[in-house]
Amino acid sequence: MGSVSGSCNACGATGAALMKLSLGKDFFGRAYDRLSPSTDQSPKWYCEGCSMQKNLQRDFRDILEEFDKLSADQGSTLSNHEEFQRAALRLREIVAILAGAANESSFLTVTDVTQLIGRMQTTTVRT
Ligand SMILES: [Zn+2]
Repeated sequence: MGSVSGSCNACGATGAALMKLSLGKDFFGRAYDRLSPSTDQSPKWYCEGCSMQKNLQRDFRDILEEFDKLSADQGSTLSNHEEFQRAALRLREIVAILAGAANESSFLTVTDVTQLIGRMQTTTVRT
């Protein structure tokens, strides 16, 4: 077993139930093995609220990365119209969740996400 008596790696909460975050698949369904138990050198432990926000941040990063590739004409998952729509929808969902959260996320801000939404809205996908 790991450091169940530790504190959340994000907000520092102690005494809460902590979970080791295994990231599994990224937003686009690709394998994302960085935190799997056998290969992870420095596992992180988060309380429930932070692990939820960490997942939002992960999706945001995946989408941002793909969008940057799309902008640079580098072949992106987002050149698929359906993926693009799905990603745009997810970003709106993330904003709604962040806006409704009791504590400000230590991982990402509503501003970051709305900026990306704005950039995506001015982009037309060439198919
Ligand atoms: Zn926490």
